[in-house]
Amino acid sequence: MKKTKLNHILPGDIREEDCPASQTGKQKHFWLSTSMVESRVDGSVFVRFICSRCDKLHDEVFTRQNFQTYQALIENNRKFAEV
Ligand SMILES: [Zn+2]
Repeated sequence: MKKTKLNHILPGDIREEDCPASQTGKQKHFWLSTSMVESRVDGSVFVRFICSRCDKLHDEVFTRQNFQTYQALIENNRKFAEV
């Protein structure tokens, strides 16, 4: 199944960073989520992202409300299969 990149839910500097593994080297990272998603005691949610091309990692913390907005997207566009 084709994955949709999650760039639009990440901060601008992460979204706009060039991916060294892209064809021209000037395309943006192709961010997908990973299975590392953790609720924190303060209600925020930690999510680890990975670029599907160069495997760079990015950690982002969402408010509970933002996470709920993006939850389906995050769950449907994960790089690693769940065990
Ligand atoms: Zn990349």
